[in-house]
Amino acid sequence: MIPPLRSKPNAAEKPQHLEKSKAERTSSDKRKSKLPQQPKQQGQLTKSDDEEELPPERCQHIQFFDCNSSVGRVIFECWHCQQAIISEYTGEPVMGEYFGHPSLIQVKIQCPNCEKTAIRLTTGEVLSITAIPSPWQQ
Ligand SMILES: [Zn+2]
Repeated sequence: MIPPLRSKPNAAEKPQHLEKSKAERTSSDKRKSKLPQQPKQQGQLTKSDDEEELPPERCQHIQFFDCNSSVGRVIFECWHCQQAIISEYTGEPVMGEYFGHPSLIQVKIQCPNCEKTAIRLTTGEVLSITAIPSPWQQ
């Protein structure tokens, strides 16, 4: 007989999410160690069997909404794990310096799934970062 589990509505959600992201991170790390991120020997003529399957070139989806309102929204995919993320931002991009040259400050947005930098945006202050089901993948 299994005793009925009393689910705690809010407390139960976070640990589950953490475990899930940990598992996915492990699998993506495995994938990464197997496939070279940036193949450096492109001019190589002799192909070994291991190198036949190159990773497809990745593109990153991104879509802006509500650009004209005070709070804008952007939907994009994480560069690392392709987790779709919606982010709200406000304010204007900040001018800063990049290697001595004036440049717009790029805000790093941390992926809630793999905890790496999902994307860099030249926006103002980032208000929220939320993982969503990808509108680009089926
Ligand atoms: Zn990610």
